[in-house]
Amino acid sequence: MDIEQFRQAGYATVDAICDYYASIDSRPVKAEVQPGFLIESLPPSAPARGESMQHILADFQSLILPGITHWQHGKFFAYFPANSTFESMLGDLLATSVSNPGFNWVCSPACTELEQCVVDWTARMLGLDDVFLTSSKRGGGIIMNSASESALTAAMAARERSLRWLSQEGGSSEAGSVPGSDIPLDCRQQSSQKLVMYGSTQTHSLGAKAAKLLGLQFRAVAVSAADDYALRGAPLRDAIETDVAQGMIPFFVIATIGTTSSGAVDHIAEIGEVLRAYPTAFLHVDAAWAGVALALPDQRKNLRLDQVNQYANSFCTNAHKWGLTAFDCSLCYIRDRRDFTDAFDVTPHFLRSKEGDSGTVIDYRNWQIALGRRFRSLKLWFVLRSYGTDGFKKHLSNGIELCGRLEGLVRESSNFEIVTPRSLALLVIRLKPQSEVPVFDEELNLLNQRLSGVLNARSDVFLTETMLHSTESDIRCLRIALGGARTTWRDVEEVWEVIETEGNRIVETWREDGV
Ligand SMILES: *Cc1c(COP(=O)(O)O)cnc(C)c1O
Repeated sequence: MDIEQFRQAGYATVDAICDYYASIDSRPVKAEVQPGFLIESLPPSAPARGESMQHILADFQSLILPGITHWQHGKFFAYFPANSTFESMLGDLLATSVSNPGFNWVCSPACTELEQCVVDWTARMLGLDDVFLTSSKRGGGIIMNSASESALTAAMAARERSLRWLSQEGGSSEAGSVPGSDIPLDCRQQSSQKLVMYGSTQTHSLGAKAAKLLGLQFRAVAVSAADDYALRGAPLRDAIETDVAQGMIPFFVIATIGTTSSGAVDHIAEIGEVLRAYPTAFLHVDAAWAGVALALPDQRKNLRLDQVNQYANSFCTNAHKWGLTAFDCSLCYIRDRRDFTDAFDVTPHFLRSKEGDSGTVIDYRNWQIALGRRFRSLKLWFVLRSYGTDGFKKHLSNGIELCGRLEGLVRESSNFEIVTPRSLALLVIRLKPQSEVPVFDEELNLLNQRLSGVLNARSDVFLTETMLHSTESDIRCLRIALGGARTTWRDVEEVWEVIETEGNRIVETWREDGV
């Protein structure tokens, strides 16, 4: 393809994207295809002779699009939103146009410096403490692929930090006080297996996964429905004390701001106070979904921003969920950047540069697992500049407002209950028929399973169910996650009408026939 052919195909592609967005709301939310639908219609090998771009683009329309679930649809209320915007598409296109692996400042100075700039812009917008700013030269931010990668990376940094502390115990009192020093192999081998990671039963599976990848244990501390499924200090202390009594070493705790199931906000200060007694422990705050809402000053207290600023060693939020930036764009901040470089800097000779050696620039390869990296800051830069912080906040407030109105509708309905307090733009509900005699959770769970089944079979709505585990019970619920960039009140009303009608029908059958 030459430049003129690219110009033509590029314009045609932009036109096709515009047509897609103009028609998106007339499509079903969910792909209506069966497993194998695509594999069966594609040849087993790549073509020997190149094909025309026109032909390839046409196949995108006829073969690929039918197998797409439309996350940008106004009625997509499953999981969490994964918003894209035209701004972010354009930024990403330009990033691809100058494709390079950006691992060192010298690779492409703008890639590193724009990232430093936009992570600081975002930190300021969210109200993070100055220590998390890259310009503080102490902590800083980096854009990763996902919250899972951010947590795994933080856990690796935490492991190194705790081993360093253990190897220097007695010699020095502060963790990581001799950065860059080698950890003796025997200490590494003896201590590694004793390290334990903690979270709650509501922690995203990224916690258990990070522990598994590191070959370590993950302890999921139980939460209580009475605490709205948030992790508190006392049960965490009990769990740690039990482990320590058996010779184990706490090294990493994941606290969540806005859990995936119900949007619960863990008690960061209580957790932080417990961890004071354990210098090997590192506190990572996973705010993958809810963190961007810290941009709204009136949400900062609920979301415990002051506590994050006081206690967190690292903090992650995804711009690629509610934050208008197309996947992938996960912002990970660390209080002390040496925790990253101590774990990840193994600079071989051919990667050294005079700028990196002098410490005047950041070489992001020393803050992450991989060497190369995508130029992700460009799309976020486009979004933040085009929306402005005011526009960004307005988008967030809009999702919260729509969810508040939806909450009003659910409260009016006799067969549904709101299970946990509405969290920002997330509402967790369940079918709970009005009844003279008590209906127990087991029976309610069956009714709600039936409701999920009916809703799942439809392609005009897309919701996810969840099971809320606590010390009291296991409750099956339906999550309604608003916050899509294109969602209107009309969309919300229409989806609620579907949920309510299907729910009422299930209740009627149940009243007649029982479970
Ligand atoms: C979505 C989510 C994750 C996973 O995010 P990825 O970026 O896909 O890894 C982790 N934690 C919470 C609380 C989430 O909402």
